Amino acid sequence: VKSRSVEYVGAAYTPEQLLRDVRPQFAFIGRSNVGKSSLLNALLGKDIFRTSKTPGRTQAVHYVLVDGAWYVVDLPGYGYAKLPQRELARIAALTEAYFAERPRLTFVLLDGRIPPQGKDEETFAWLRSLGLPFRAVVTKVDALSRAERAQASRRFVQAFSLSEPPILTSARTGEGLGEVWRAIRDAL
Ligand code: GDP
Repeated sequence: VKSRSVEYVGAAYTPEQLLRDVRPQFAFIGRSNVGKSSLLNALLGKDIFRTSKTPGRTQAVHYVLVDGAWYVVDLPGYGYAKLPQRELARIAALTEAYFAERPRLTFVLLDGRIPPQGKDEETFAWLRSLGLPFRAVVTKVDALSRAERAQASRRFVQAFSLSEPPILTSARTGEGLGEVWRAIRDAL
């Protein structure tokens, strides 16, 4: 693996703070606790996201510039019911404003140990209605047997009418990270 330059650029807490830049953006979204921070750290080979995700921290859109050429964008986790209504509304508005900026590709993370969720269905419906390209990514597959992986993959394809099988990944073992990289490279 060639070495990359990975630079944390900053966070947007409001729609006005969203980055406006011609360089392509690759967004990562999923329910809180899906393993998004872990996957992004593993992907970038750097512990960039851990500290930003301590429970109770204000949710934001985080930007990381890779090779000075494109962005990894960490979107707020959803489905965290314990937040106050006002905060949930802020996050929804921020995410909606973010998608209006039209990322090049959005990775929707799905926990391999958890059955398909309505919240994820909403995310796919949202991306489809905006005509934004996306790719499903299953996380934590190290915790699944071979049969369970196949079953999870099938279940997600059916539940969300996916046209491509999800990428099976593990931040723990590094499995599937190459496929995520490839999806990014193909879209650049
Ligand atoms: P986030 O809230 O989506 O950013 O999720 P985190 O990255 O903080 O991970 C949530 C939980 O899932 C933590 O307890 C992690 O240890 C666990 N986790 C994350 N990635 C993996 C993985 O690849 N395999 C397993 N078995 N657990 C994971």
